[in-house]
Amino acid sequence: MKIAILPGDGIGPEIIEQAVRVLNALDEKFEMETAPVGGAGYEAHGHPLPEGTLKIAKEADAILFGAVGDWKYDKLERALRPEQAILGLRKNLNLFANLRPAILYPELAGASTLKPEVVSGLDILIIRELTGDIYFGQPRGVRECPDGPFKGEREGFDTMRYAESEIRRIAHVAFQAARKRGKRLTSVDKANVLETFQFWKDIVTDVHKEYQDVVLEHMYVDNAAMQLVRAPKKFDVIVTGNMFGDILSDEASMLTGSIGMLPSASLDANNKGLYEPSHGSAPDIAGKGVANPLATILSAAMMLRYSLNKAEQADRVEAAVKKVLSQGLRTPDIHEEGTTKVGTKEMGDAVVKALAS
Ligand code: NAD
Repeated sequence: MKIAILPGDGIGPEIIEQAVRVLNALDEKFEMETAPVGGAGYEAHGHPLPEGTLKIAKEADAILFGAVGDWKYDKLERALRPEQAILGLRKNLNLFANLRPAILYPELAGASTLKPEVVSGLDILIIRELTGDIYFGQPRGVRECPDGPFKGEREGFDTMRYAESEIRRIAHVAFQAARKRGKRLTSVDKANVLETFQFWKDIVTDVHKEYQDVVLEHMYVDNAAMQLVRAPKKFDVIVTGNMFGDILSDEASMLTGSIGMLPSASLDANNKGLYEPSHGSAPDIAGKGVANPLATILSAAMMLRYSLNKAEQADRVEAAVKKVLSQGLRTPDIHEEGTTKVGTKEMGDAVVKALAS
């Protein structure tokens, strides 16, 4: 199996190095090819997503991505900025399903802004449709208002729309992910107000016929936002559209309070995916050897589960991460009194060691 390794900028190379060590410590053998992306791509080939990098990403079964971006590229024209590499990969590889788990290990419950009893042990997965909805719908723009009480004024407008096949494919991803977890799926919509989301609800209900082992519930987005802070552990898997998912996945990730711990995946229709930590390139701590590599190691575990079909190996990696946390090892971002502060490499060493035991 072939994995494209795209370390990127800032702390990207440091955290990717540890995830690659973890993959190499497993019983499986993977073919890995490394290529520059983001600022590193621009420096090497004059573009954040060089042709050679895109080719390697297209040919691979999965992509492990570090992070891109640095303030020194802020003056470049938009198309050449490091962050464009992510958009380019999503578009070229048709990565329409964004999976973001929010897991709060009991050992880190103090990091959340919510009461420990509300969040301790939290383990939910948010699936956000990534390539449609009001973010991409046409027409859009600023025009002269054609009717209504504000007729003749200037108005801004966007178009919310979802095609049936777009809803079906994200619903399949969600039901299949729920099957691999607690078999409960919450579809979040605004069907009481929006035609697009009444249609969404009808199609998700229809797809459910193929997944009768999964319990489906529908919830309005305003209620979902409330329940996420009131009783987040009620959820297992949440699926929703691009805009609602954008907001809810950030809300859910902050429940855990520790950005260095959160992995993510973006998948296509065949479960090929790009796996990356939810955080950025952290230029403020790059090169200091203090970045938390666990979000990237957990992203590698997601890659094993969703793209490479190696659920057992994914379980092993996740168990190793739990073990190092229970041993009290912490990088500075999650350090608390009474725990042992370690750097990026020591954390990687500890996960590799925990895998072997
Ligand atoms: P950031 O996530 O890089 O950093 C925010 C804060 O969290 C910083 O204080 C940083 O030190 C800390 N942090 C992040 N990851 C950490 C880790 N693994 N361990 C310990 N601490 C960690 O966000 P930012 O500062 O807003 O952005 C920095 C650069 O990253 C920008 O150029 C931005 O465009 C880019 N960015 C890239 C991605 C991506 O590659 N997917 C995502 C977000 C931001």
